[in-house]
Amino acid sequence: KVNNSFKNILGYSENKFLQSSVLDFAHEDDIEITKDELKNLGEGKPVVNFKMRMKCQNGQYRWLNWCAQTNQNGTKVYAAARDVTEEFNLAEIEKKNIELQKEKSIADRTAKNKELFLANMSHEIRTPMNGIIGVLDLLEEAKTNPSDEEIYYLNTIRTSSNTLLNIINDVLDLSKLEAGKTVLRKEDFSIEEAIHQIPSLFKGNALKKNITILTEIDSKLPKYLKSDINRLIQILSNLASNAIKFSDENSEVIIRASLIEKKDDDVKMRFEVTDFGIGISENDQKRLFQAFNQVDLSRTKKFEGTGLGLAICKQLVELFDGNIGVLSNQGQGSTFWFTLNSEIGKAPEKTKSQKNNAHEKFEGTRVLLVDDKNVNLLVAKAMLEKLKCEVTTAKNGKEAVNTFKPNLFDIVLMDIQMPELDGLEATKIIQKEHGKSVPIIALTANAMEGDKETYLNSGMDGYIAKPVTLDQLKKVMGSLIG
Ligand code: ADP
Repeated sequence: KVNNSFKNILGYSENKFLQSSVLDFAHEDDIEITKDELKNLGEGKPVVNFKMRMKCQNGQYRWLNWCAQTNQNGTKVYAAARDVTEEFNLAEIEKKNIELQKEKSIADRTAKNKELFLANMSHEIRTPMNGIIGVLDLLEEAKTNPSDEEIYYLNTIRTSSNTLLNIINDVLDLSKLEAGKTVLRKEDFSIEEAIHQIPSLFKGNALKKNITILTEIDSKLPKYLKSDINRLIQILSNLASNAIKFSDENSEVIIRASLIEKKDDDVKMRFEVTDFGIGISENDQKRLFQAFNQVDLSRTKKFEGTGLGLAICKQLVELFDGNIGVLSNQGQGSTFWFTLNSEIGKAPEKTKSQKNNAHEKFEGTRVLLVDDKNVNLLVAKAMLEKLKCEVTTAKNGKEAVNTFKPNLFDIVLMDIQMPELDGLEATKIIQKEHGKSVPIIALTANAMEGDKETYLNSGMDGYIAKPVTLDQLKKVMGSLIG
């Protein structure tokens, strides 16, 4: 006999039940375990809390929790089933949630480790780069009439170290973008001025191959945008740099900007960078925007590059709520395009005329220079002496705290990572003992997003990322003294 609730749950007629075996309704994955239980039951053993799925008339499965027993001589079976589908589903969801949580925390930890690794690597590479680029700057400033051969060697070191620095910056940039840590910094700018800047960035490279860079700007575009001009220029110059790289000599690269639509205060635009170079096969086009991807390594091996440029462009374009793509025919050239959304801007306030950055301005400035590495001290000291500063050095935070007196120094340049007492701690002590009358500039190889803000928030007055250049020194020091 079958009771009503059982019939209701599964939805079959009593006859159907009486003519069938439990196995006829069992889920195919549960048939084997059900057979085992039936066998046990046949041998007189009770079934306790046995869970299996049964198919209902409507095609769905329900989880049933069975208890069953035979009578003494084995002629009758008493069986009771409880519908535990809902409990079971909840338990399953709970289990899945726990698994997901575990996976998430592993992924979080991996991402954190990756970030730490990149920050460390960037720091470690920047420190020797500071020595290389710094000494180069000094050599070039020295104006000692080098021979042609020496100039050639100097230029080679210059391009190689710049390339290396660009690679480090690209890797950092991409990892910041992937970690969602990059934000657009909006400001008013003239779109025409922004686009006209691009050709001048490539004068050297384009000239060598005699490539003409043309620009075309749709007259329907608003004159001013309020958006992140630096990031826009970064995308365009990445694309233009590829266009030049993969073009033959004497050809043209065209940069176009056009209007898609204007709505109230917002505008949607399309940018294109067209070249008539080697082009990209349809198959390769699909993989283009993934990191570390270079089309056909054997062919492109003769071109330098990390395969990061387009991945960075794609992430940046997405920050602007835009799309990026390519139209290309092999052997005929390529057009890389992207769309971009922006607020319409107004004419930017004219930036105050650049402060006088002439060397004389710094003459006699008393600088306390703090760094634990001799190379860094050598480079920064020589640069400061070029500016006719009077330099005193300290090899760690402790020495800096002991040496510092407000009436002896006009400015402090402070490395961050140092043994004994680091730059942040030293800054805190100096400011606690003597107040904030003398500006303290962080001079550091920590160049990850947020580092600058951390130092400025913790009381430092300026920030220079290594490798430090004479220009940067002048700019940051100039903004803080007289
Ligand atoms: P990189 O230029 O550093 O190798 P990118 O991400 O900028 O990295 O480009 C990835 C690859 O896409 C290039 O190595 C090249 O094979 C292909 N590519 C990019 N731009 C062009 C172009 N304008 N013409 C032909 N191939 C291109």
